[in-house]
Amino acid sequence: MVEASNFIEEFINEDLAEGKVTKIHTRFPPEPNGYLHIGHCKALCIDFGTAKKYGGICNLRMDDTNPAKEDTEFVDAIKEDIHWLGFDWDDRFYYGSDYFEKTYELAVELIKKGDAYVCELTPEQFKEYRGDLTHPAISPYRDRPIEESLDLFERMRAGEFPEGKYTLRAKIDLASGNFNMRDPALYRIRYIEHHRQGTKWCVFPMYDFAHPIQDALEGITHSLCSLEYEDHRPLYNWVIEHCDVPSTPRQIEFARLNITNTVLSKRYLRYLVENNIVDGWDDPRMPTLCGLRRRGYTPESILDFIDRIGVSKANSMVNIGLLEHCVREELNMKAQRRIAILKPIKVVVDNYPEDKVEYFDVSNNPNDPEAGTRKVPFTKVLYIDADDFAEVPPPKFFRLKPDGEVRLMGSYIIKCGEIVKNEDGTIAEIHCTADLEVGTGVPTDRKVKGTIHWLSAEYAETSNAILYDRLFTEENMNDLPEGKSYVDFLNPESAVKIDGIKIEPCLADAKPGEKFQFVRIGYFSKDTKNENTFNRVVSLKGSFKVE
Ligand code: ATP
Ligand code: MG
Repeated sequence: MVEASNFIEEFINEDLAEGKVTKIHTRFPPEPNGYLHIGHCKALCIDFGTAKKYGGICNLRMDDTNPAKEDTEFVDAIKEDIHWLGFDWDDRFYYGSDYFEKTYELAVELIKKGDAYVCELTPEQFKEYRGDLTHPAISPYRDRPIEESLDLFERMRAGEFPEGKYTLRAKIDLASGNFNMRDPALYRIRYIEHHRQGTKWCVFPMYDFAHPIQDALEGITHSLCSLEYEDHRPLYNWVIEHCDVPSTPRQIEFARLNITNTVLSKRYLRYLVENNIVDGWDDPRMPTLCGLRRRGYTPESILDFIDRIGVSKANSMVNIGLLEHCVREELNMKAQRRIAILKPIKVVVDNYPEDKVEYFDVSNNPNDPEAGTRKVPFTKVLYIDADDFAEVPPPKFFRLKPDGEVRLMGSYIIKCGEIVKNEDGTIAEIHCTADLEVGTGVPTDRKVKGTIHWLSAEYAETSNAILYDRLFTEENMNDLPEGKSYVDFLNPESAVKIDGIKIEPCLADAKPGEKFQFVRIGYFSKDTKNENTFNRVVSLKGSFKVE
């Protein structure tokens, strides 16, 4: 027996102990109408992860019950994202629509048993007759003779009636306190081409009817889904009980994932893509798995995040700082350090020979001794970052300042001399002298407090960086002020492009997707689409405190 680490596993352990199931079989049922986002990731980690933990299996099923438009792009992307996270479904890949024939047969059986009937209320009447907590629903066609319903249902399928004319309804309980049980619709007429079934069908099962049947036909033991399906569970169980299906899956619900400064609704995400507010589904600011991947998130950091938020029954809002913390922590351990200068200014070391090149050893990763060191060339003309120099320094400024001294990381101490300006007043170059005697050693006569990073101007390569940040400014994007839309809260600084950054020569060979810590700046990943561009994954430090 596996030790339960959440309530789902407790339920599963009960079922195992009672002998209701022997092998755990779950499924992940995405609708192929968009890319997977971090919310889906929670669901799929629970589906695949729970099966894995119990030595069971998990199916991947495209939930295409709703006639949707062509979507091979989405299907392929969903598969790629799941594999990227390290999960697999072997040969158990299905489409919900493959069960249409069987689902139709089961509906016919329900009619024959008197458990379903053809209703001809218009959608408006359907709503009007729904009743309320003190009044039961009214269904004038409930006692239609079985033969008549069978005939009408067959003709519905044959395409004899217009959309909305008839529905097939389950005969359950018009007075139920759960409105989902007040004779819910099981089938409706729709004249729309299905991406896989073509025009074969003009009656389509409702999700609440199709889903339990699909689960049962696949032998799913535990159908894990998000909390909004909780009120649908009695209907799920009703369908399983009343249809002749080969197994009895159990539905268990968990809380949806919400993250601050983010929207996790496919509808909203699609809007951002279709209106070019972002640069596609894989824009590095998107909470999609392909966006996070392009940004530089690793599967390990995402799985760590999902693990830390846990599986709970209560909906809550998770701080995006936790997600950022997870990738920061992982890259801190694993990413090699490199030097990049986002805002280069020139430093000329006056007392250093013109044609000399020296190589200094710098650590590839202080957290990982096995990462070793590399050699960084030093020459007379260098770049430092404009932010590491202040002509009028604020108090406690331990970087380069007039007449001040600073350590060039892994190399000499330099002292600031003449500051040469351009005509417009900007700095053209800063002249310095290096303490060639002390070298990389520590001077005995004085203390040099600051250390800054640098690059040889002769050897440095030029590149571009995009500093990505949160896409939305508002923490709780689910609860916006009256009259405001989520697009009103787009962060104008969510992608700040900096052209002409200077990078260490070896970074020019970085492979797309390769990740580094740019020392003193943050974690960066070589973009997979734009040439010669580094995406900021996350800054070095976050303000979010992780307990
Ligand atoms: P959306 O609201 O983004 O359109 P959806 O629920 O319609 O999402 P599906 O493709 O049907 O998207 O989702 C597949 C599975 O992922 C479902 O079981 C659903 O419950 C789950 N899921 C979707 N969003 C979240 C979320 N934010 N947190 C946890 N699970 C989620
Ligand atoms: Mg859905």
